[in-house]
Amino acid sequence: MQRTYTIGDRSFVLDEAKAREALDGKRVVAGRETLAFNLLPLKYNWAYELYQKMKANHWEPEDVPMQRDVDQWRSADALSDLDRWIVKMGVGYFSAAEGIVGDNVLTVIRELVTASELKLVLGRHAHEENIHADSLLYMISSLGLDPHECEAMFADVPSIVAKNEFVTRLSHGLRRDLDLTVPENVALFAKNLFVFGQCMEGTQFYGLFGMILSLYRQGKLTGIGTMFRYTLRDESNHIELLRRLLLELVAENPEIWTNELKDELRDLMREAVELEHRFIDDVLPIDGVGLSRTEFAGYVDYIADRRLVSLGLEPLSPGATNPLPWLAELMDLGKEQNFFEGRVTEYQKASSLAAVADDEL
Ligand code: FE
Ligand code: MN
Repeated sequence: MQRTYTIGDRSFVLDEAKAREALDGKRVVAGRETLAFNLLPLKYNWAYELYQKMKANHWEPEDVPMQRDVDQWRSADALSDLDRWIVKMGVGYFSAAEGIVGDNVLTVIRELVTASELKLVLGRHAHEENIHADSLLYMISSLGLDPHECEAMFADVPSIVAKNEFVTRLSHGLRRDLDLTVPENVALFAKNLFVFGQCMEGTQFYGLFGMILSLYRQGKLTGIGTMFRYTLRDESNHIELLRRLLLELVAENPEIWTNELKDELRDLMREAVELEHRFIDDVLPIDGVGLSRTEFAGYVDYIADRRLVSLGLEPLSPGATNPLPWLAELMDLGKEQNFFEGRVTEYQKASSLAAVADDEL
């Protein structure tokens, strides 16, 4: 029997029996393998909706004017030594970190999931990491920074090396041929999703984001600040994507969600927070740019707990409040604040398949 399946203003005629078989075979991991990359019928509608939302936020580094930043960077007194140090640490850390995230998304997560709509949105995630890496190249070339000096930071600053080691150790062993019918392996994959989504993108990125936005708030290097605001908006979708993936993985494999795993995830977040405190001490060796180191450390504690609670895990510092409320406001970038509104609207038009019918089949 044939049925018509509708997404927005498009409809598709599907053989109901085959569609049912495909739908029943979809799982986050160890599902039905197909080379056809047929998205329909959708099982994980949220993933397709998130993909549309990510497209609607599309931006390109060259859209952001950098001349004022260049003038400030060259001027003798527009920026303090600390301002410059924060920018160099930011560019140095993110140049490599964005690549590590993108690589894990492509070579670990996207390889191990089996549903096409999940692969679709993960492909977009990886592409956004490319945009972020490209935006850093644009900053480096605009300001005339030595890229090798930035690279050296990644290899030579111990607190950065430690952050790097922390995330990459959870990728080892997660190869394409890993048997994901084995619960221990599924739990290993769950830890990877947690570490990259909630610990790294969700918490460890926020130390530097906050410092760079603090400069932005003072009218310093606003082109760079604008790019970081767009990056942050993307990151919030990445955090949500990996959070939803983890929740689906647990729903389909409830046997992995043991107290032992929950404790391990909280221990991983505790480690991530400690590493971030050390890192903040290196980026902000003295109080400055309107920030105290204590407030900043408290901000990281607060963000980390929000990530834990969003997964139903117990917070590490119960009752922690946000010591930097202005930061939340600056981080909450609506589309109306977009510099290139016209272009974003155009992108959105092209992706106007908003409503997705989920229970048509
Ligand atoms: Fe990124
Ligand atoms: Mn990201």
